[in-house]
Amino acid sequence: MDAISDQRARLGDAAKKFISQPKKLLIDGLWVEAASGKTFAVIDPATNKEVGRVAEGDKADVDKAAKAARRAFESGEWPSLRPMQRERLLHKLADLVEANADELAQLESLDNGKPVMMARHGDVVMTAEFLRYMAGWATKIEGSTIDVSLSYVPQGQFFAYTRKEPVGVCGQIIPWNFPLLMAAWKIGPALAAGCTVVLKPAEQTPLTALRLGELAMEAGFPKGVVNVITGFGPTAGGALVEHPEVDKIAFTGSTEIGKLIGVNAMKNLKRVSLELGGKSPVVVMADADLEQAIPGAAMAIYFNQGQVCTAGSRLFVERKVFDKVTEGIAAFAKQMKVGPGLDPSTQVGPLVSQEQQERVLRYIQSGFSEGAKALAGGKKVGATGCFVEPTIFVDVKPDMKMVREEIFGPVVCAQAIDDVSQIPAMANDTIYGLGASVWSTNLNFVHRLIPKIKAGTVWVNGHNLLDPALPFGGYKNSGIGREMGRAVFDLYTETKSVCMTV
Ligand code: NAP
Ligand code: MG
Repeated sequence: MDAISDQRARLGDAAKKFISQPKKLLIDGLWVEAASGKTFAVIDPATNKEVGRVAEGDKADVDKAAKAARRAFESGEWPSLRPMQRERLLHKLADLVEANADELAQLESLDNGKPVMMARHGDVVMTAEFLRYMAGWATKIEGSTIDVSLSYVPQGQFFAYTRKEPVGVCGQIIPWNFPLLMAAWKIGPALAAGCTVVLKPAEQTPLTALRLGELAMEAGFPKGVVNVITGFGPTAGGALVEHPEVDKIAFTGSTEIGKLIGVNAMKNLKRVSLELGGKSPVVVMADADLEQAIPGAAMAIYFNQGQVCTAGSRLFVERKVFDKVTEGIAAFAKQMKVGPGLDPSTQVGPLVSQEQQERVLRYIQSGFSEGAKALAGGKKVGATGCFVEPTIFVDVKPDMKMVREEIFGPVVCAQAIDDVSQIPAMANDTIYGLGASVWSTNLNFVHRLIPKIKAGTVWVNGHNLLDPALPFGGYKNSGIGREMGRAVFDLYTETKSVCMTV
């Protein structure tokens, strides 16, 4: 059986049907072709074969979508909905995600390459939970009453308060590593706050955002509230950032593009939040429970083929247990089953694209040429598909290219800790500051270390423990703003002060 028919044969009927339909843009409640009539290919990274085509939206389509989102924000049904009605709509969307969970997981696996079991029990479950958590906030966004003095107004009494109002039309640009989850992560809080959105998924992974758009229509969101434009970054994404009707840009992706978007958004003072790259440290102390820490550190990097912004890509291990931990991770890596994502027994799927595979292999090559040694992995797998072996490097120096730059692949670089007082300096020796994990049974030590680590999230005896109630975002070059939790509503609301003479 050739690989392509093999992959398609594993799709359920619903996913097969979705794949076989034409995939258009969602603008103002209607599915329409790109104004240019152009389409682009959706590639299965397990086979490098085209599995379908989607509309290639550009400036003209973004213009229509942004204007539709503006109309939906200012007039019609959406602005007059009560918070509880917005909450219900988001719960309905979560219900539909759950009802279509298998199909969504299969589409995600086909498009992104990730193991279907991870997509089903990770991405899709979390998508529904994130939407439900944000649904609850629709009724809980509140301002405050404030006692003012106004000493220079000798006579008079005053009543002052703040209102939290939706920021407006949101342009949301997302990456390919968690396509569905990122889409929900972005639209959830925006819709809970009463904003309208134009979502641009990554060119590599447009399928589940389109399916989510269908489900949003089925849930009953009024037309123009959720718009989805598939297309390329510089054209569709760039047009969103420049569009005068877009009030806010929310971006997740590379630091390089994030900086560009931040600068461009500032030109017309759009609100902008950026969730960018990382080079997150994993610190394993000699007193850690190694039976937990070894698989934990391995999955910190190998989960989702290492394509995670908080991937634990720099490993620091106390010298006493360095060999045991690195050899343990190497053994873990070697027994992981690499294969096409839609095979339910696969643990490591292909990377998202050939471009990404080549990029990761270049980093691995740079590691070898700078003198590092691979205890496991270090090669691509097979002649077709974007597979790379789970890899661990030792004999690593802090100034090596692969230690300094975000690889976004299943490659971890291990360094030994000789002086415990140097841990903060080692962990912080990066331009990034997204995540970090510490593995230790000495919680006094851990508590003293946490304030010294410059990262938006620190995990202890775990890694990538994400919850919609916990603010998420980066220090330094890892971004601006905190998504999730109560904090995300700072990004999707404006504060209006009201002061009244009474
Ligand atoms: P990227 O270029 O930053 O893409 C992220 C999103 O931004 C995509 O939707 C992309 O569209 C869009 N975009 C690209 N250029 C744009 C522009 N000039 N204006 C507006 N939008 C634009 O990321 P990538 O190319 O997919 O991946 C490159 C590297 O970024 C990875 O290897 C990894 O290091 C990092 N990355 C980080 C994260 C994260 O979560 N922190 C996620 C993904 C990637 P297109 O899809 O058409 O390019
Ligand atoms: Mg790109």
